[in-house]
Amino acid sequence: MKLIDDISAQAAFLQSVRRDIHAHPELAFEETRTSDLVAKLLTDWGIPIHRGLGRTGVVGTIVGTGGSSPRAIGLRADMDALPMAEHNTFAHASKHAGKMHACGHDGHTTMLLGAAQHLAKHRDFDGTVHLIFQPAEEHGGGAREMMREGLFEKFPCEAVFGMHNMPGIPVGSVAASPGPVLASNNEFKAVIRGKGGHAAMPQLGVDPIPAALQMIQAFQTIITRNKKPLETAVISVTMIHAGSVPNVIPDECVVQGSVRAYTAETLDLIERRMAEIATHTAAVFGAECDFHFQRNYPSTVNHTAETAFVREVLAQMLPAEQILTQVPIMAAEDFAFMLEQVPGCYAFIGNGDGDHRLPGHGAGPCVVHNPSYDFNDEILPLGASLFVNLVRRWFARPCATA
Ligand SMILES: [Zn+2]
Ligand SMILES: [Zn+2]
Repeated sequence: MKLIDDISAQAAFLQSVRRDIHAHPELAFEETRTSDLVAKLLTDWGIPIHRGLGRTGVVGTIVGTGGSSPRAIGLRADMDALPMAEHNTFAHASKHAGKMHACGHDGHTTMLLGAAQHLAKHRDFDGTVHLIFQPAEEHGGGAREMMREGLFEKFPCEAVFGMHNMPGIPVGSVAASPGPVLASNNEFKAVIRGKGGHAAMPQLGVDPIPAALQMIQAFQTIITRNKKPLETAVISVTMIHAGSVPNVIPDECVVQGSVRAYTAETLDLIERRMAEIATHTAAVFGAECDFHFQRNYPSTVNHTAETAFVREVLAQMLPAEQILTQVPIMAAEDFAFMLEQVPGCYAFIGNGDGDHRLPGHGAGPCVVHNPSYDFNDEILPLGASLFVNLVRRWFARPCATA
């Protein structure tokens, strides 16, 4: 593995930064301490910053000394934590009850800081790099908010790159694959309105519960009978709420859940069929249904040329067997919004299988969104080196759009 020596020499510093952020998790759009820390470090390293895009977003800009090239690229990290209690009790475990860096965004922010420190010191490239520290990846679409407020107008980028840690992929391995790598994230709510009454006299009312049960069963036929078999999609009903006492038929039953898909065509089909099934099934039972469908994050689709470029850079750093192709997964990621507007690639850096965790870690597996998870500090120099090498090699190549 070929890392940048300067960055490897900073491993202890990067670990301390990462653990400090881990100990002080902040939720979507509340990342004030984290963004203050990012802003301070960037400023200390002589990097001009812009603050406030997406409320707590920070953008640092480094101009290389190579000349006067107008070209620019973006590197992105997310800063937010999750609203969940941490089960780890080691020294850098969360100090904020009910909040936890359980997705490794503490590590993502630190890897980009490590790259920033090196790039600002050496500036050995001909172009400009924008370091995008975004809020609210987990909830609220911080990337989209920064873009709505003019991220790529203020800081135009010809390409944008980001990476997420991936438990289960060995340390020292990185996956970068063209095309869809993460699904779209959508949610639905069906409010079935019947006519409540006495549990002993159902004939006098319209019970919304049988309608809800039929509807839930029928939703799965969209997956098995309507969408193309080779298209991937999931409908998960995750909430059913009705009634308050055993002897009363309720007026209403509310069914909610999540839908994941890769292509817009499949998602359009699912939304249309769910609405049809919801309203018609309710009608068959004499009830009514208000059906709501909300699209949250689109699917994350890597661009072919930029992904080939990332793999080319990885080939200079890692043995071939450590450069992986990622099997698409059904989780979602708001970097997808950036990839809709700017070409780029979202890579996955191996976080190992959890052996790195300190004594006092929780009993659960070291997977993201688990209360026993911890980012693996060992991969900080690799991630930071990859970011730096992407910058150097991008500007060493001829302009893709020329
Ligand atoms: Zn997450
Ligand atoms: Zn994440």
